Order: sequence, then C-alpha cells, then structure tokens
Amino acid sequence: AKRSWRERLSGSSFAKGLSSLFNRHPKLDDDLLDELETTLITADVGIEASTSLVEDLRKRMHKREFADATALLAALRQSLISLLKPVETPLAVTGRQPFVILTVGINGVGKTTTIGKLARRYRDDGHQVILAAGDTFRAAAVEQLKTWGERNKVPVISQGQDADSASVIFDALQAARSRGADVLIADTAGRLHTQGGLMDELGKIARVLKKLDADAPHEVLMVIDGTTGQNAVNQVRQFRQIVGVTGLVVTKLDGTAKGGVVFALAREFGLPIRYVGLGETATDLRVFEAEAYVDGLLP
Ligand code: GDP
Repeated sequence: AKRSWRERLSGSSFAKGLSSLFNRHPKLDDDLLDELETTLITADVGIEASTSLVEDLRKRMHKREFADATALLAALRQSLISLLKPVETPLAVTGRQPFVILTVGINGVGKTTTIGKLARRYRDDGHQVILAAGDTFRAAAVEQLKTWGERNKVPVISQGQDADSASVIFDALQAARSRGADVLIADTAGRLHTQGGLMDELGKIARVLKKLDADAPHEVLMVIDGTTGQNAVNQVRQFRQIVGVTGLVVTKLDGTAKGGVVFALAREFGLPIRYVGLGETATDLRVFEAEAYVDGLLP
C-alpha cells in the first residue's frame, strides 16, 4: 500500500524538532524564532535558507502579523512551500522516441534502485522501457541491473565487464530505436579512478548519443542520498561542472535523513526535483510534490 508522506517523513529530525519546539514553546516571541532557526539548520536546511526564512518571519512577527504561534506555523508552512514550488516540475517522458534519460550520481546513493523503480513506473504507465547497463566500471552494477530486468521483464542492454560505457549506451539507443521503445534509461559509473576520467566518460556518452539524436540525452537525472546533507549539495555542485544536470532524485528521505536537504538544494540550484525516495519499494519513489513534502514534515 502507498503509505503517506507524513508517515515516512515524521521520523526526520526536521519533523521531530519542529513538533517538540512548538510543544515546548507555544508562546510567540524572539526565543521561538531563535530556536526555529537552530532547528532548521540542524535539519540540513542550510544556514542561508534557514536564516533568511527566519528573518522574514521575525520581521512579520514584529509587525504583529501573527496572532499566535499557530499563525506563525502557518506562515512557516507557506514559506517552505514557496521555496519548493519552483522545483516541483515533474518529468514527462513523452515527445521523444525514445525519451533518453541518463542517470548520474556517485555509488551508494541508490542510483541502480532508482533506475529499477523508474523502469517499473514507466512500464506501468504503458511505456516500453529499455535499460542500458552503462556502469561498466563496477561488475556488480551490471549484474544488479540485469537481475532486476529479468525479474521485471524489462530488456537490459549490456556488454562484458570493462566494456566501454559509451558503446553500451550507444548500442542501447540503437536497440531502443529499432524496437520502437519509448523510454531508455541509461546507468553510468558512479566513480572512476579520477574525476577527469568520469568527465571524459560522461562527455563521450553525450557525444555518441547525439550521433543518433541531436537532442539526447533528454534528461540528465542526478541521484543523491538525502541522508548525506551538505555532502549531497556538494555532489550536485561537482557534477554540474561535469555534465548538464537537468533534474534531481533525492533518495532515502524516509531513513536517517534529517529532511531539510531538499530545501537547501532548491535554494542553491533551483534544479527540478523530479522524484524523492521515501522507502525501498517501487511505489516509494514518489513524484515530488512541494505541499505533500512540507505537510509531511510539519506538526
Ligand atoms: P547505487 O550504488 O547508487 O546503485 O545504490 P543502490 O541502488 O544499490 O542502493 C543502495 C541502497 O540504498 C540499497 O540498499 C537500496 O535499497 C537503498 N535505497 C535506495 N533508495 C532508497 C530509499 O528511498 N529509501 C531507503 N530506505 N533505501 C533506499
């Protein structure tokens, strides 16, 4: 069953911190705002986003805009939603045949799992999906994707271990075209010996794709781990220097994630957050919704 956002997000330090703060401190005053700022920073929202949010609320409080702490909480909700609304841009995998998604991100963030979940979602939506096992640097990644494909009856194009990633993905795009597939999702290496190696490889993949389709890839989807806070923010910054990231997937927000990194990402990059991972099963990868996310965190 599709469990609610709140159920999945209520364990985060963002949700727990806020509910304990408003319980302990029902009175509307500067102390409440100071503690709110600390709570947000502690929950990975980031110093800049937290400070500017709280300073705005403080000004409005001093202008007597809020009757009580409940009114302040309602204003906080609106501010948080406003931060996330601009990045609530779902990915439509239509209008191209096939629609080519290149997934990038470092190992361990949940990239392979996300590819499997996306393939399931698009297949269930009636699309014909093909996967490309382009993380040829890690034999386990190829095996993991192949096993997943066999179990779910989604074709996976792969070559032997140590094959050239660009060649695998080029083959997969050719196969997708000849079979009339709608969506191609390509995996890529999460780490090579050097940052330069990764840059060369992703550059080469983009170049060979363009030989078949000048606009491909149509989406460069970067997967990041929501439990890693500022590290996730740094990873996006680094990958954006290597490849033109067009969308984000933030995984593991149900686990030990503090919950606030989504706001930090929205403020810093303004990149669409396409999906969020709220658990390990296929239906736990949700299309990102600003209001559902914020309401999942607030008391
Ligand atoms: P990769 O190295 O980036 O390909 O990572 P994997 O796809 O192998 O995932 C690493 C681990 O994270 C696996 O145990 C996944 O089940 C787990 N995982 C991925 N997404 C989520 C999520 O949204 N929530 C939780 N709780 N676990 C996740």
